[in-house]
Amino acid sequence: MGKLKVAFYWNASCGGCEEAVLDLGEDILKILEHVDIVFWPVAMDFKVSDLEKFADGEIGVSFINGGIRLSEQEYVSKLLRKKSKLVVAFGSCAHLGGIPGLANLWKRESIFGYYYSESQTVVNPEGVAPSTKTRVPEGEIELPEFYEVLRPLDQVVEVDYYVPGCPPPPNVVAKALETLVKGELPPKGTVLGASSRALCEECPLNETKPEKILLKEFKRVHEFVPDPKKCLLAQGLPCLGPVTRGGCGAQCIKANMPCTGCFGPLDEVEDFGARALSFLASILDYDTEEEILRALEKLVDPVGLLYLYSLPSSLLKDKIRRE
Ligand code: SF4
Ligand code: SF4
Repeated sequence: MGKLKVAFYWNASCGGCEEAVLDLGEDILKILEHVDIVFWPVAMDFKVSDLEKFADGEIGVSFINGGIRLSEQEYVSKLLRKKSKLVVAFGSCAHLGGIPGLANLWKRESIFGYYYSESQTVVNPEGVAPSTKTRVPEGEIELPEFYEVLRPLDQVVEVDYYVPGCPPPPNVVAKALETLVKGELPPKGTVLGASSRALCEECPLNETKPEKILLKEFKRVHEFVPDPKKCLLAQGLPCLGPVTRGGCGAQCIKANMPCTGCFGPLDEVEDFGARALSFLASILDYDTEEEILRALEKLVDPVGLLYLYSLPSSLLKDKIRRE
């Protein structure tokens, strides 16, 4: 059996998912015994024209990170889909929309207006903004279109599997690659390399988590230094471990920071933020709706807390659009 042909591609993301592949360290050499990387533009000089030359289905697996915000990203992702037997949404942004998906809260004109004229660090008296076509002395140059909203990968192409995390940690990447290399494929739609249980189950502080938590208020991380030996949620920090898929080894908790939910929801949960909100509301020690709402008001930036990684894949999607 020949080596598995693998492609990596980067859409709207920070680049951390590409780093995550390198985080495998020396293990990447073991993986290369079974895998041929045939397309990885961020690391080697590949062009889209190289990809166009592959036969349909010739690439074994394409790992695509980042959401789709630009027409170029849509074009290359659709091309990778055509050329690949399997497509894996790699990392939170491809999986759920990720942090760049929070920009869906604003209209495209507002984003351009801020970044190209209103921001304090911008000097742009002529109001130049990117446009898809620009005439220069040498001819016409073209930029990809910036779409009205960012979409997670599975809203644009069919996705076979997901690898979670912002970015996916090396143990999760290695497990996912091993599954794919062995060819023992789980059902389509499976989240690879992670756990099917909540993060709390693997958290070293789980033993200190009371059976029933009741809080009068939520605190923010800059307001106090939490006791690193006690459940962070029990200390008032809105840790999302109870509603987040496990598998990361509780990395943030080990750094004394609450889980912000980058591994996304557990199976069967449609909307991560709605699930997180209902959980947080359920542990507030008040009886009336007004009291609960008042306590929740202490959560500054609720969308940023509840939908940090998942706004574009939520039921809200792009329903909140600010000028
Ligand atoms: S610190 Fe967070 S992840 Fe750990 S047990 Fe408490 S709630 Fe769960
Ligand atoms: S603790 Fe939560 S936010 Fe941190 S890496 Fe794990 S799943 Fe992601």
